[in-house]
Amino acid sequence: MPKSITPHPRLLTDVSQFAAIRTQVKTDAVLRFLFEDACREAEVMLTLPPLAYQKDGRRLLAVSREALRRISTLALLARITGDPRFAERALVELRAVAAFPDWNPSHYLDTAEMALAVAIGYDWLYDRLPPADRTAVAKALLEFGLLQSEPAAPHAGWIKASNNWGQVCHGGMVAGAIALADEHPELARRIITRAVENLHFSAKSYAPDGAYPEGPMYWIYGTSFHVILLNALEQFSGHAHGLDHFPGFLASADYMLQMDTPTGRAYSYADCRINTGLNLAQYWFARKTGRPDLLFGNDALFASRQPDQILSEETTRFNALALLWRVNATHSSSSEAKQQPPRSWFGRGINPLAVHRSGWGDPRATFIGLKGGAANGPHGHMDAGSFLLEADGVRWGVDLGMQEYLSLESSGLNLWDSAPGSDRWKIFRVGPESHNILRFDGKPPVVSGKGELARFSAASGTSVVNLDAVYADSVASVSRGVQLLPDRSVLIQDEWRAVATPVTVTWQFLTEADSVVIGESEATLHQGKETLTLRVLSPTDAKIALENMSAPQAAYDAPNPNLKRLTLTTSTAHGASGGFRVLAVPGSVKASPPHSLHPLAEWGEPAKKDSAL
Ligand SMILES: [Zn+2]
Repeated sequence: MPKSITPHPRLLTDVSQFAAIRTQVKTDAVLRFLFEDACREAEVMLTLPPLAYQKDGRRLLAVSREALRRISTLALLARITGDPRFAERALVELRAVAAFPDWNPSHYLDTAEMALAVAIGYDWLYDRLPPADRTAVAKALLEFGLLQSEPAAPHAGWIKASNNWGQVCHGGMVAGAIALADEHPELARRIITRAVENLHFSAKSYAPDGAYPEGPMYWIYGTSFHVILLNALEQFSGHAHGLDHFPGFLASADYMLQMDTPTGRAYSYADCRINTGLNLAQYWFARKTGRPDLLFGNDALFASRQPDQILSEETTRFNALALLWRVNATHSSSSEAKQQPPRSWFGRGINPLAVHRSGWGDPRATFIGLKGGAANGPHGHMDAGSFLLEADGVRWGVDLGMQEYLSLESSGLNLWDSAPGSDRWKIFRVGPESHNILRFDGKPPVVSGKGELARFSAASGTSVVNLDAVYADSVASVSRGVQLLPDRSVLIQDEWRAVATPVTVTWQFLTEADSVVIGESEATLHQGKETLTLRVLSPTDAKIALENMSAPQAAYDAPNPNLKRLTLTTSTAHGASGGFRVLAVPGSVKASPPHSLHPLAEWGEPAKKDSAL
């Protein structure tokens, strides 16, 4: 706690930053874009009915997020433009949510996001709120928000959470505590101390290299709130209490940069949507680290934008905050575009992964991502050893990402138990049937078995994951390697050794290509004018088959339009070694010269971080 509490506004900003935004929108193209987007959205907000208490299953989250989007946007524009319509409308929303019966503490994310929304509205517009409204809003923030997090309350299980819940809930509560710090200094001190002491439980997800276990979409969620918490503490007390120094935390901005694929979508592993939109927290990281290259992906999205297209649909509730993260940037938009990030990257940790791409700034570049990890990780899928492949502007090898939770929970499925045989693994998009993995005798992978990134080389474009633990109940050893070749083809190589019994091995490849033509030891995928040929280099007698997977596999599964599954099948005698070698050749690669083949043990070097650059 600071020695003296500054007057409002003090949450995330002060009046000088509002003034700086007002000036810098004239010269900074990114700031101008964010500002104009906020203005467009605010004009629409003026025409919408006020927020209403409407739960979706057990969640109020959509209402809390809309409250955050509306109140932060309207309050910011009220401060920057002085237009009284925005302050008046923000007050309408604050009155509405303060009159709710509760902020749904049984699903605490809903409470935390609402608390952030109301704290911003209360703090930024404090001198424009009528006294009776100040009292009512502060009372709601205290009783529906802050006090629900006290140890005596039954819904504070997130305090030591090891996933995004810790960041979101501590972030929301600290924002509320700062807004009410002069009325409730003891409570504010307690809430801030609690956040500082417990955030490491969530932040260990980033260690050691920044790869985020829950996938890019949840990185945006957890990390945006981590940034909000840092921003709020630095503004309020003058320092970050070390919350920016967790191993891998700052490096995770590099991870997110690498998760943007050439076609402009996310590397959609774990529970992730295919399009995660503009990563607004990246502006905070770029300013914090003085690294304009972190904005390469954001700039590419700007460049490819259609007129009036909203780039931050998924994260639009952070738009107003992004103006605070961008203002006073020490670099300009033009310096960002010149910096080329590394073409190969890997991260170790809970969910290790590696990516290689043939170039940046080219939507037709080849991209190959390969991951390890364990299915029972947070928001995990049975995707250890799965790969994602893009070339010539097409995502050929897909990961379908998440299915919306409500559609599954309303069928009575328990999504959150990851024990072997549980409901979670029966969901098509989550379980073994929908990933580009190996199957041994058709069995699912071992739920707790973790794939480790064993070898990596940026120079040769290679990565190898060791999957022994993932298939420990089927084979003695198994590894998969991918190599991005200089001609933009990709080699996918698998090696295993059978135990005392023979084993049937299937290579799965999920694609949304328009059509697949199977030939002699190869299959050619067609998408519009583009093609990709999968050449089975070995074994030459592998059986190739194609299945249509577009219809839901079970009643609760979402349809997957155009989805097809290509499989290769072979068998390996007891005690013998086996393997697949598949070369994926994009149609734009005219003649793929033969190249020498090596066992995976000779690929690249052991994956240590100093070999990444
Ligand atoms: Zn998946």
